[in-house]
Amino acid sequence: MTAHAYGDDWTSGVEAIVFETCDTCRSHWYFARNRCPACGAATVTRVPSRGEGTVCAVTSVSRAPAPELRAFVPYRVALIDLDEGVRVMGHAGDGVMIGNRVRGAYRRLGTVLVPFFTASGSLRDGPENSR
Ligand SMILES: [Zn+2]
Repeated sequence: MTAHAYGDDWTSGVEAIVFETCDTCRSHWYFARNRCPACGAATVTRVPSRGEGTVCAVTSVSRAPAPELRAFVPYRVALIDLDEGVRVMGHAGDGVMIGNRVRGAYRRLGTVLVPFFTASGSLRDGPENSR
């Protein structure tokens, strides 16, 4: 996943997930802010994610949160712990489970672009993987 323009991401229709890092203390976070939430520094850098991570939680949405999404229910959403250390929410493919390694792509739901994660490997640290 590479941003097409510096700092643009899926919320502006660009196929990228972008997080921020603090130039002073090296903290990193997902939601865009003007200042570092750890040390207060105003020098932050937007960084595109590779879009790979591990599933923290997953659920199915059967009641659309907005009229324009009614045509797409049911769909699955997941919380993903990206390898860069930030947690993001995205749509998830069938079969994606907690602990799965996933890779992000994008899917268009009507006029909205959303991150879409599919399983890329085996479970990490899950009970099925502890043998
Ligand atoms: Zn900082």
